[in-house]
Amino acid sequence: MNDANLETDVIVVGAGNAAACAALSARENGAEVIMLEASPKELRGGNSTFTGGMLRFVYNGMEDLIPLLGELTETERNDIEMDTYTEEQFFDDMGRLTQYRCDPDLTEVMIKNSYETAEWMRSKGVKLQLTLGQHAFKVDGKFKFWGGLAVQIWGGGKGLIEALHTRVEQEGISVYYETPALDLLHDDLGVSGVRARHEGRTIELRAKAVILACGGFESNTEMRTRYLGPNWDLAKVRGTRFNTGAGIQMALDLGARATGHWSGAHAVAWDVNAPPFGDLDVGDSFQKHNYPYCIYINADGERFIDEGANFHTYTYAKYGREVLAQPGHFAWQVFDQKVSHLLREDYRIRQITKAEADTFEELAAKLEGVDGARFLETVREYNDAPRPDTPFDPNILDGLRTQGLAIDKTNWATKLDTPPYHAYCVTCGVTFTFGGLQITTGAEVVDTIGKPIQGLYAAGELVGGLYFHAYASGSGLTSGAVFGRIAGRNAARLARET
Ligand SMILES: Cc1cc2nc3c(=O)[nH]c(=O)nc-3n(C[C@H](O)[C@H](O)[C@H](O)COP(=O)(O)OP(=O)(O)OC[C@H]3O[C@@H](n4cnc5c(N)ncnc54)[C@H](O)[C@@H]3O)c2cc1C
Repeated sequence: MNDANLETDVIVVGAGNAAACAALSARENGAEVIMLEASPKELRGGNSTFTGGMLRFVYNGMEDLIPLLGELTETERNDIEMDTYTEEQFFDDMGRLTQYRCDPDLTEVMIKNSYETAEWMRSKGVKLQLTLGQHAFKVDGKFKFWGGLAVQIWGGGKGLIEALHTRVEQEGISVYYETPALDLLHDDLGVSGVRARHEGRTIELRAKAVILACGGFESNTEMRTRYLGPNWDLAKVRGTRFNTGAGIQMALDLGARATGHWSGAHAVAWDVNAPPFGDLDVGDSFQKHNYPYCIYINADGERFIDEGANFHTYTYAKYGREVLAQPGHFAWQVFDQKVSHLLREDYRIRQITKAEADTFEELAAKLEGVDGARFLETVREYNDAPRPDTPFDPNILDGLRTQGLAIDKTNWATKLDTPPYHAYCVTCGVTFTFGGLQITTGAEVVDTIGKPIQGLYAAGELVGGLYFHAYASGSGLTSGAVFGRIAGRNAARLARET
């Protein structure tokens, strides 16, 4: 970086999905843009790189998806029963999951722009495909999609970041790696740039607008414990080690308003022996999301949760917290052979903590850390519980439930009766934090009295107000792309006008 680079129209902090969308949008609206990224190039892309690339957006049947998917395979043409995922369904999901706390204006912007933004991402080179086998199982010869998540990005998070950065490069946008932003430059008018660390020096970069898109505070043990509470220091981090809350902190220091669920986080079941931060070679495969077909057992040998309360897409983000709350902060997911074919690839990776046996007695001895005697009683009680005469169907909330247990399993409660039995040990893996900065529907960061701070925009994980308690999977990338695109457009407009 030489002196000539020290002034530009728009600085984007971060290089993940929200940042890349913001940068491309600012560029297409005529601005000169640079991006600052804390990580080295080979680790770029933040949490976005770690994603499975699930993308939640509104669609009214297959006709809406065809333009996004391009050519369909024969299976896709013939064997699919595609439902709709309407604006109303997306609103219902956001409302129900957040206990009706999500910011209505931001939610509306996210939902109403979701399809168009998916099209825009495609126009920037991001390829999309159906989520066959993950969010649709074949029943009676047809794949039926559930959970409003029919599409994922081709190549997952790595494919997403590769595609967006290819376009960033083509657009002549410089990305400065190993250049963490430290704080915001400002004067009486508002934000006028960024102070950053680059090649051992502290430098000042001037711009007409700054877009913060540098993630939440999930990788900052101290902030996690301070805001999420006791034992969150013991959680594993599923993704990047670079999201330390720096963007949130520098905006708060300037008088930005904090909003959203600061004691809440997206956290899932994650292999108990996974490393402390994400490993790009394994990606998100340490996740273990097929618990709706298992019984979940804690160290006391007890079940502690309704495994079948809903499709995992609606419960997985809050069940990590439940695992963290168990003695020893771990739990075992126990399956029988009948449901093995439903388990995702994530259950067959080499780096897995697994026990298998032909009898429950043998299995009990292999479930490390578990009260084996009580485990055997729990299985007996679960298998003996009365159930309606309802067929098991993984594509619907099948109502096959237990009755009379202290904690009933309310769907997919088949008996565990077909050996070999297999079990997987998980702990809590934190994905991202929910609390963050308050923004307007134009992605402007507001101050403590609610007035936009001139020249400061934000998008992605560090925005607060969208998620409380739980999360509809695939909406993190949607929110980052929608608000990143808006932030880029508005930052470019501001740069033109000043
Ligand atoms: C394992 C895993 C799987 C997931 N799967 C999905 C999925 O399938 N679908 C979905 O929608 N969501 C998924 N998510 C959530 C999703 O990753 C996030 O919602 C989304 O990627 C956030 O994008 P972002 O651009 O805001 O942040 P990030 O992609 O994390 O980007 C933030 C960037 O800022 C950089 N940075 C941090 N501090 C600084 C600083 N001071 N200066 C400069 N740069 C800085 C970081 O290095 C990083 O590159 C998943 C998350 C994980 C961890």
